[in-house]
Amino acid sequence: MRSYTYGFPRLSKQREFKKIVEGFWQSKVSEEELIKGLHRIEDNMRLIYSKYVEDFPSCEITAYDHMLDASIFYGLYKAHTLGEYFELCRGKKALELTKWFNTNYHYLVPDFCSSMPKLSSNVSILEEVKSLKENTKNLFFVGPFTFLKLSKNLPERYFEGTLIDVVEILIEFTKNKGIKSIHLDDPALVGDLNEKDKSSLKKAYSLFEKTQAKVNIFTYYDYVDDLDFLLDLPINGLGVDIVHDKGVNLEKLKRLKTDKTIFLGVVDGRNVWRTDIKKRLKVIGEISENIDDLIITNAAPLYHLPVSLDGSGISKELRNKLSFAQERLYELSLMVLKDQKKINNWIKDIDHDKYNKASIKEKIENLKNSNNFDRKKDYKERAKIQKELLNLPLFPTTTIGSFPQTEEVRRLRLLYKNGKIDKYSYKTFIKGEIAKAIKIQEEIGLDVLVHGEFERSDMVEFFAEKLEGIITTKNGWVISYGTRCYRPPIICGDVERTQPLTLDEVTFAQSLTSKPVKGMLTGPITILSWSYPRQDVEEKDIAYQLAIAIREEIKDYQDKGIKIIQIDEPAFKERAPIKKEEWEEYFDWAIKAFNLSISSAEPQTQIHTHMCYSEFGDIVDYIKQLDFDVLSIEASRSKGDIIKDFERVKFDRQIGLGVWDIHSPVVPEISDMESIVKRALRVIPKENFWLNPDCGLKTRIWEEVIPSLKNIMKLKDKLINLYGD
Ligand code: GLN
Ligand code: ZN
Repeated sequence: MRSYTYGFPRLSKQREFKKIVEGFWQSKVSEEELIKGLHRIEDNMRLIYSKYVEDFPSCEITAYDHMLDASIFYGLYKAHTLGEYFELCRGKKALELTKWFNTNYHYLVPDFCSSMPKLSSNVSILEEVKSLKENTKNLFFVGPFTFLKLSKNLPERYFEGTLIDVVEILIEFTKNKGIKSIHLDDPALVGDLNEKDKSSLKKAYSLFEKTQAKVNIFTYYDYVDDLDFLLDLPINGLGVDIVHDKGVNLEKLKRLKTDKTIFLGVVDGRNVWRTDIKKRLKVIGEISENIDDLIITNAAPLYHLPVSLDGSGISKELRNKLSFAQERLYELSLMVLKDQKKINNWIKDIDHDKYNKASIKEKIENLKNSNNFDRKKDYKERAKIQKELLNLPLFPTTTIGSFPQTEEVRRLRLLYKNGKIDKYSYKTFIKGEIAKAIKIQEEIGLDVLVHGEFERSDMVEFFAEKLEGIITTKNGWVISYGTRCYRPPIICGDVERTQPLTLDEVTFAQSLTSKPVKGMLTGPITILSWSYPRQDVEEKDIAYQLAIAIREEIKDYQDKGIKIIQIDEPAFKERAPIKKEEWEEYFDWAIKAFNLSISSAEPQTQIHTHMCYSEFGDIVDYIKQLDFDVLSIEASRSKGDIIKDFERVKFDRQIGLGVWDIHSPVVPEISDMESIVKRALRVIPKENFWLNPDCGLKTRIWEEVIPSLKNIMKLKDKLINLYGD
């Protein structure tokens, strides 16, 4: 049996990727040094690969994102220098950022605008970054179908023609370069393909017949609806996920007869629990009876996992049950070598009793039976009470929660974590930061203030540290977009809130001002989605456990006089299954979990929720079932496209469309923000409209934040002049 791998985290063990790219942004690293650094990272990845598996692709490195690279390659955008390249990531005209399938990785959305560009192969800066050489053995690239499916503003009628163009460009390029084989990451093929998609695919991918190169297409994250259809295409091999396929791929493979190569995805690329090698080998044995050319691989790219368990700081006992990217490669090698002793040593049963709490199980069972998570009064009545109590002006202004995490904030947090300063000094420092943030917000004149989230390393990790049943890691970093990383916690037991989570900081902030301070909590779906969940309990039950914890925190907030509370759910859409037929089931429990989490909110407490960087168009009906009072939603990079969807569902609650794209260091122009608002006001009554940035400000610096917020205030004055009575 042979093995193959791809998608190792480019981030690298010491986050070298982040350091070198950000170094370039800060002009501390030259273009030449950056390119060299990126090559070093790729070389190192290949070194790790070759230790464990036989084969892997080349040219896997990117300076920011593979979808952007594909956009440039096909000539949608021009980038001759790295400076021009990064303009597309974080400049004034930065592309929209959206979550990649049901993961927390964000890609840059190719935009075909209204005018169709003439596509042609254009390697420019990519040639150097990826070191695209003559005779590259196995070129890694985003699959043309996925590339176009995830693009925006490509009219349906042009889809097929464009797909054909794109495939032709790719074939031509590989021919000129004498490339031997092509690895195409094509996960959109697991989506719901209609007849039109299939006929376009057939026409376009049939062109692969013309290439000498072997084409291997990798699907992952779910099962393929029509395996025979894909295998009929003139390709050499197909990658199939048998970890997140709900057993469907596996059943089909057992009956499949093919002379093509099957890359069998046998180790999990999305979660961190060790693979039961024996069980897997049995399955592989069954499949290999009728498939001659079977190669084992990871079931999804490995970059959703941290690099390695080494230095993760996780207790030995738990570490023995886990597997990060490098350990996944080791698992592949175990399956090839079949060393019984090592295999026996690898998997250790979880001691469930240690992680389970009967009292939590009981609470969940009771909830399941009650099924009623409604708040005491409906929105209309609540809105009246809240209006009187809060007395906010027209176009109230607020922010999404976090303020700049400066060098100093991060330095002190590290000192505290390493035991170099005591809890009291750290808390005093954080209080100082909160006080500064309150003062700045009051000076700017914002209506609803936030404490700034200085105490939080990350919006999920912080909660994970305080809740029981979840553990955090020391260096288990994963890229979320560009160079931004987070450390997903691991949910290993029943989740319980045994202490307040954020009460101290929020109530301290409120004590400093007469304006309302918004309490800031991460919602159950987001904590679940941005962690690695345990596998012995249904995800829905984990979500309920988290919801109960949040509900208790809300109770405490209210007792301390907090009047506005925001529940962040940026992962609400992202966590939705790729297949639409599974949506009903998912949204049913996701909505229940969210509503359960806010069910302790009194009618006078104004509940906000925040979502960002997803395609919300097709889930507005579900968003409507969440019982919040105000929704703040990202809309600045997509320039308010979302509005028409809210019009369709007659959204009658309050909404804050993000008018400032906070992923870019550029201070937003009043006129740009104004056009988003004006468009929205055609649909949303002015009384319901809030002004805010499109996400938290922790990645920005104060020098960008203050002038930007001042511009939002000027926008508010202007709008009041225009629309006020
Ligand atoms: N309250 C969070 C913050 O401001 C929200 C972040 C997010 O949506 N990703 O940082
Ligand atoms: Zn956000």
